[in-house]
Amino acid sequence: MSFIQSQDPAIWDAIQAETTRQQDGLELIASENYTSPAIMEATGSVLTNKYAEGYPGRRYYGGCEHVDVVESIAIDRAKELFGAEAANVQPHSGSQANAAVYLSCLEVGDTVLGLDLAQGGHLTHGMKLNMSGRLYNFVNYGVDEVNHRLDFDQIVKLAREHKPKLIVAGASAYPREIPHDRFKEIADEVGAKLMVDMAHYAGLVAAKIHNSPVPYADYVTTTTHKTLRGPRSGLIMCKDEHLKLVNRNVFPGTQGGPLMHVVAAKAICFAEAMTEEYAAYGQAVVDNAKTLADTLMSCGLRLVSGGTDNHLMLVDVTAVDLGGKKAEAVLDACGITVNMNMIPFDQRKPMDPSGIRIGTPALTTRGMGGDEMKRIGQWIYNALSDSDNTSLHESIRTEIREMVQAFPVPAAAESPATV
Ligand code: PLP
Repeated sequence: MSFIQSQDPAIWDAIQAETTRQQDGLELIASENYTSPAIMEATGSVLTNKYAEGYPGRRYYGGCEHVDVVESIAIDRAKELFGAEAANVQPHSGSQANAAVYLSCLEVGDTVLGLDLAQGGHLTHGMKLNMSGRLYNFVNYGVDEVNHRLDFDQIVKLAREHKPKLIVAGASAYPREIPHDRFKEIADEVGAKLMVDMAHYAGLVAAKIHNSPVPYADYVTTTTHKTLRGPRSGLIMCKDEHLKLVNRNVFPGTQGGPLMHVVAAKAICFAEAMTEEYAAYGQAVVDNAKTLADTLMSCGLRLVSGGTDNHLMLVDVTAVDLGGKKAEAVLDACGITVNMNMIPFDQRKPMDPSGIRIGTPALTTRGMGGDEMKRIGQWIYNALSDSDNTSLHESIRTEIREMVQAFPVPAAAESPATV
């Protein structure tokens, strides 16, 4: 019997139910993935017991000789994986990584250019309620009204007009490759620093499918749990000249003790991402996204920008007379998990927008390929175009339960919930 099961049945039951949910359904949330058993094991290791404020060799606590080894390996691997000059592996999350960079290069009130949340940006790129929008003067750029690609004419114009101290590139809901070299040109022209938040596509950069921001950006931030397939956490890479301030603004600027169990899991993630197997995974993520996008479009659904180059797509569900909220609920009833999402120039509200966001990283980790994507695309279309037909949704649910049997979730077999 598991320790959790005997000591805390309420938590045990919830973990058990979540394990079943993850195994039993189709996870299409673009920012989620399944870690390897080794990464799962590291996050449940004794390293969670250790305080290690400071950095390797310069800690504020005794007994750090072993966690120093872990953190040094994680730093070296992050630099090797992405070809970066310097790295800080301590941010607890993507948001904290971004906050630390902002503190490193901005004063309160400084002007920053970032992608509009409603057009694919992230909360930490200047949303009014987020600390980024509260402390700094974010000016939003967006995408072209017709092709939904980043509108570089507008970005240049805004940069010249507002002379930002920092330009933030990167997105949470943008289905196309981001040309980092163009952002660098603009940043250089107006004397701004460049930060690229590659949280969504870091795994595709590691697999050398998406161009890397590292040669161009002063700072590169990322989460480690999306396409990169590591533990839930953050990472900052930067030029050597910026490291001192970045380190100071992670600790003590925004955090206390690092989560050493998660730092160990990040080190394992970086090693995994250097393998040929991982490069093949990255390619499969993109291939699967294209197949799924093509299937949805051939059924008649409209995709933002007309398709995808990366791991995600945005589907306009108003074509089947739905809002994103109901579309998400209908798919949930079928065992398909997605999230509602604003689409560019959305006429609807964030709590019931016009779109849903769909991504393939998690299902690709389970080993699904083109045939499964075609079936899934058809299920999605059938469910959405007959959105009140609960018996149809139930029968899709049954078919999905059968299909997923052949595609186990990697770490679930080792999870305490199945002991
Ligand atoms: N940056 C981008 C582009 C993201 O999409 C996200 C998360 O969705 C984050 C940052 C924030 O990451 P976290 O949820 O770890 O704070």
